[in-house]
Amino acid sequence: MNKLSFEVKDGIAVLKFDNPPVNSLGLELRQALVAAIQRANADPGVEAIVLIGSGAGFSGGADIREFGTPKAGAYPNLRTVISEVEDSAKPVIAAIGGVCMGGGLELAMGCHYRVGVPGARIALPEVKLGLLPGAGGTQRLPRLLGVEAALNIIVSGATVASEKLRDTPLFDAFGEGDLQENASSFARKVVAEKRGRKRVRDMKLDMPNAEAYLQFARNTVKAVAGPYPAPLACIEAVAAAVEKPFDAGLKRERELFTTLMLSPESAALRHIFQAERAASHILDVPDDTPIRPIAKVGVIGAGTMGGGITMSLINAGLPVVLLETKQDALDRGLATIRRNYQGALRKGTLNEASLAQRLALITPTLDYAALSDVDLVIEAVFESMEVKRQVFETLDRVVKQGAILASNTSALNLNDIANFTRRPQDVIGLHFFSPANVMRLLEVVRGAKTAPDVLATAMRLSKTMGKVAVVSGVCDGFIGNRMLARYGAAAHDLLMAGALPQQVDAALQDFGMAMGPFRVGDLAGLDIGWALRKRRSAEFPDRDFSNVSDILCEAGRFGQKTGAGWYKYAPGSRHPIPDPTVTAIIEEYRRKKGFTPRNVSPQEIVERCIYALINEGARILEDGIAQRASDIDLVYLNGYGFPAYRGGPMFYADQTGLHDVARALQSIAAQPGSDSSVWTPAPLLTQLAQQGRSFSEFKGSAK
Ligand code: NAD
Repeated sequence: MNKLSFEVKDGIAVLKFDNPPVNSLGLELRQALVAAIQRANADPGVEAIVLIGSGAGFSGGADIREFGTPKAGAYPNLRTVISEVEDSAKPVIAAIGGVCMGGGLELAMGCHYRVGVPGARIALPEVKLGLLPGAGGTQRLPRLLGVEAALNIIVSGATVASEKLRDTPLFDAFGEGDLQENASSFARKVVAEKRGRKRVRDMKLDMPNAEAYLQFARNTVKAVAGPYPAPLACIEAVAAAVEKPFDAGLKRERELFTTLMLSPESAALRHIFQAERAASHILDVPDDTPIRPIAKVGVIGAGTMGGGITMSLINAGLPVVLLETKQDALDRGLATIRRNYQGALRKGTLNEASLAQRLALITPTLDYAALSDVDLVIEAVFESMEVKRQVFETLDRVVKQGAILASNTSALNLNDIANFTRRPQDVIGLHFFSPANVMRLLEVVRGAKTAPDVLATAMRLSKTMGKVAVVSGVCDGFIGNRMLARYGAAAHDLLMAGALPQQVDAALQDFGMAMGPFRVGDLAGLDIGWALRKRRSAEFPDRDFSNVSDILCEAGRFGQKTGAGWYKYAPGSRHPIPDPTVTAIIEEYRRKKGFTPRNVSPQEIVERCIYALINEGARILEDGIAQRASDIDLVYLNGYGFPAYRGGPMFYADQTGLHDVARALQSIAAQPGSDSSVWTPAPLLTQLAQQGRSFSEFKGSAK
């Protein structure tokens, strides 16, 4: 396919990129561009050259589909392309509209002139992937914008509107109207006025007190960069632009870029970027599956989840019919929704008028008849099969044919719920996480009979709501909570082995988890697990579900909401204080269960908890509950506070080496008191480890 068109008019060669969706600079376009610059230079009828993008804009930068493939670095790479442009004997003018990001902006800065229009989006977002702009961006942008403004753009990765930069040397001309026309007439002016070529590399970069400013920037960025090396490396690259001649600066930029490219943090961030793109593809549902239109949604239950789900929907502009059984529950739910918007109002991210517009999208009701014409219903009532049965039988009677019926259940069997209706093909699980208006994760639960277009529609809806959706098969806990159960059990085992909650939490927080498991327990409320264990004990009387937290709950310690749980809390405070009473309860419990305490190291804590997650993840993958390892990573990253710089549990396992993970699990399984059904490496893990392969290479199945 031709990725670039070449047209000469009035002595100006217009080179138009045609590489949808964002004119990314993939190998074919790079080759075509170099050939076109040479052709234009060889053509005596051409006096100047205009580069312009078709469709979405100038260029979105590197082609992400090439990441990690030989094409990414194949000749000509982006730096070579930019040199060709910069060295062109005839002036090259970039026409900047729409997206102009990353390598696209670096290319534009390699041109001799730039013409802009309002509405273009300018950015160097490489830092978000743990990198820096590696094709001269850190050397050229400071020459055009000054050190401070350039550094802000490079270190933040933020997008800037072209209007804000119109009066800077980034643009030689700027205005409304037809961009190609403007750029061509500017090119004719350059030729007529014999302006020649203006190379950014030749511009002087003078900054009084540069050293002091750079030191200030280093200190500021160090304080917020956490474990990520890229932001500081961006500063070093810009420092080189200040301190060194242009070519030496480029060399330094390259060295820093290469180091970042090899860093585990960047590998993790690039993995997440790719994982998010992969997750929307369902293995056996073609991407072009027609979706069902969703113009109006019903939500059943205005409690914690129903309220948050309603907010997610109205934030995306979707009208919602919100149904409750009693007026006071409905009023309470609506009041909570209103209250939850107060924060956004205070911060100024939302104003009263748009809040009113959103709230006007809600139609509160006590009457199922109001749901007759909705396209989708999301049920978020009490977690009881009997209540769900009543709701779904009613929905089956009142909601129009073809509508999607979704349940937000966390732990009930979705296939049983689907069978309460005469249309199980239209039933799906939409498992939101609390608070549903904030958390990005959505597990899309695929029932045995869920129709492909229902799945495809759910994935599209999740995008509309700005969520990261991951498809899960039906099993106890789906992907996230099924793994969490193993992680929690591993943490509890560590208490039995001799650790205290604060030690376990500290070790896992040092590993990077947003919060340790016992602090999470106190936040979520220990009574939830207590009730579940009581229910399970009644269902399976011959199994032992007991847990130290049963004793905490019996003492009224439900966590933060009662001022005490695994920790104690000062009134009104969320700060956990280790509590000797809890230590005594744990010691007593250990004695009763026959455990002799020993020293437990932070390394053992991390290994046991994280490897428990990984082993269950492997089972989830081999069972076909998750489609691919990277989906599991997204669940843990977006729903459970796993550190992004480690890329998710499955990616972390791949980086550690599956052989080492399997060996560590085997050694835990062999220890006295270990439950071998839990700790024995999953067959898939053993198999991949033996073959020297990774989870990312495993092509899953759909279930
Ligand atoms: P909740 O108790 O806060 O809210 C449930 C609401 O449903 C209440 O307002 C209640 O009045 C209403 N309700 C009960 N029966 C009803 C009926 N027949 N018709 C209409 N409304 C009815 O509970 P929640 O925490 O919002 O949980 C709701 C569902 O979401 C459960 O299935 C739960 O497992 C699931 N879930 C909860 C969380 C969480 O963190 N809370 C997370 C994911 C999923």
